[in-house]
Amino acid sequence: MSKVLIIEDEVAIADLEKDYLELSGFEVEIENSGDVGLEKALQEEFDMYILDLMLPGADGFEICRQIREVKNTPILMVSAKKDDIDKIRGLGLGADDYITKPFSPSELVARVKAHLARYERLIGSSQQENDTIEIRGIKIDKTARRVWVNEEEKQFTTKEFDLLTFLAENPNRVFTKEELFREIWDMESIGDIATVTVHIKKIREKIEINTAKPQYIETIWGVGYRFKV
Ligand code: CA
Repeated sequence: MSKVLIIEDEVAIADLEKDYLELSGFEVEIENSGDVGLEKALQEEFDMYILDLMLPGADGFEICRQIREVKNTPILMVSAKKDDIDKIRGLGLGADDYITKPFSPSELVARVKAHLARYERLIGSSQQENDTIEIRGIKIDKTARRVWVNEEEKQFTTKEFDLLTFLAENPNRVFTKEELFREIWDMESIGDIATVTVHIKKIREKIEINTAKPQYIETIWGVGYRFKV
């Protein structure tokens, strides 16, 4: 359930806002003083703030500014004067929306819902988005460690995946087998660098149409390999 904090010194207005928001399924808390409200806003987690502008103690401008220093939570400013809204905009305090008194409670609810939905989408997309690389038909999902070649998923071993990803992340750069061995096998280059050749061959079998004429991982004779973009 989304939690809304209303900071409003006019008790009747605060109660009306609370009633309508609760009817729409929100959990609502009210603070009537600017100072106490500001403290609560900063210390507790809410999904949305509704701030009256003129308050005893810290005013809406100050509360908005201080919340924005530490949180991206949506803020709706409420003002008795239209002029104040121009002032809020001019100050660039980072409020998401403004509404003037008197307003219809259903208008307020509609705006709260819209801002919460937008904010949740924003948070959701930043949390869910996987780290991917896409190059000419090859898609590497680094988060899920999965690879698709022309929409078809291919299975890679851990080292094959690491090697392909490393080359794709550093396109058009030539790496020697020694460099690749050090990078992927994570030890000094005393090991068998032929391992790199074997892995490149396996990767090519999965991503190239014709392994004799590789389109992705090129062999630079006498030097090493590069991922061509
Ligand atoms: Ca007021």
